Amino acid sequence: MIYIIMEVSKKARSISASITLAISAKAKQMQQEGTSVINFTVGEPDFNTPKYIIDAAKFALDSGLTKYTASAGILPLRKLICEKLKRDNGLTYEPNQIVVSNGAKQAIAGAISALVDPGDEVIIPVPYWVTYPELVKMAWGTPVFLKCGEDFKISPMQLQKALTPRTKVVIINSPNNPTGAVYSEAELRALAEVLNGTRIWVISDEVYENLIYGDVKHFSIASCHERTVVINGFSKTFSMTGWRIGYSACAHEVAFAIDNIQSHMTSNVNTMTQYASIEALGGTGGAKFLSEMVAEFDRRRKYMVERISQMPGVSCNTPDGAFYVMVKTDINAEHLLEQAKIAAVPGEAFGAPGYIRFCYTVSMEDITEGMNRLEQFLKQRAT
Ligand code: PLP
Repeated sequence: MIYIIMEVSKKARSISASITLAISAKAKQMQQEGTSVINFTVGEPDFNTPKYIIDAAKFALDSGLTKYTASAGILPLRKLICEKLKRDNGLTYEPNQIVVSNGAKQAIAGAISALVDPGDEVIIPVPYWVTYPELVKMAWGTPVFLKCGEDFKISPMQLQKALTPRTKVVIINSPNNPTGAVYSEAELRALAEVLNGTRIWVISDEVYENLIYGDVKHFSIASCHERTVVINGFSKTFSMTGWRIGYSACAHEVAFAIDNIQSHMTSNVNTMTQYASIEALGGTGGAKFLSEMVAEFDRRRKYMVERISQMPGVSCNTPDGAFYVMVKTDINAEHLLEQAKIAAVPGEAFGAPGYIRFCYTVSMEDITEGMNRLEQFLKQRAT
């Protein structure tokens, strides 16, 4: 065993195992053994991909669109992405500034590989999406963690203080996983002001752009900081997590580098997915699907926050976006799973001990049952 470990590269050894996967694997095992577990760990919409997108994929297959494409993606799709970025975000890009990748995850990996040299510092606000620090380590960069305030945001002053001559990238994720926090336009403009005039890049992960509630508005920091790589995708907006498609948009030179790296790692995103994504972005069914999904998530969000606010020993902010509630508590996630039969992700996974993340990507029925179990568990614990 020791022999095998020594065979594995330093890079591979530096990567942490996913805590999220560990807890959901345990939940699945319990379910297989016949235990009823409410699983709040799943970070994907519980809606089917709309039929018109599925039909477009079938049509692509029947039409023989089954060959390699340009590694950065087919031109009609990249054109539509440019139109989307103009229409929704007021950002101007040409198709050769867009790289279509295997999910936003690969788009982020590509951006980090393209920008980060060994020893470069990458500022990551905490709590963070689990993958950011690991991708930075894979590029031999140094993650620099910046703890958010109670509102789960970093302030311009904090950012200013964290900058060093080695700072190369700042990662901004709004709406945020795991907290659901959304930066306002004014807040992002203030952060951009700290970075403008420097050579520092922002990787702006906007995958939850469309999952946003009430009067809250999404804003892209790329509008006010030129050195930004915008990351977005189809997984969350169109419930296409398994299709594996996302994209990056940025300056030509960096886009070229991202494409070059991707061309040697995976080549293009699978061809039928790209054609189906044209229909997702350009078709007419998207708005209706999205508004129904968002309305349902909003209903669940409000219910969950309301229930949690009435329980002893837990508290939470009302999330403005995504589909997560970050609950402040000293409960141990493993005890919660074993004793209350509720699976949720411990804050440690996001660099934030003292919290547990609940996803509202399960039915209202399951949320109600899960909240009942949580309440009972907390009451018993308090006695
Ligand atoms: N960024 C964030 C913040 C996420 O939560 C996720 C997925 O959970 C991703 C990126 C990756 O999404 P994709 O499915 O497009 O790779």
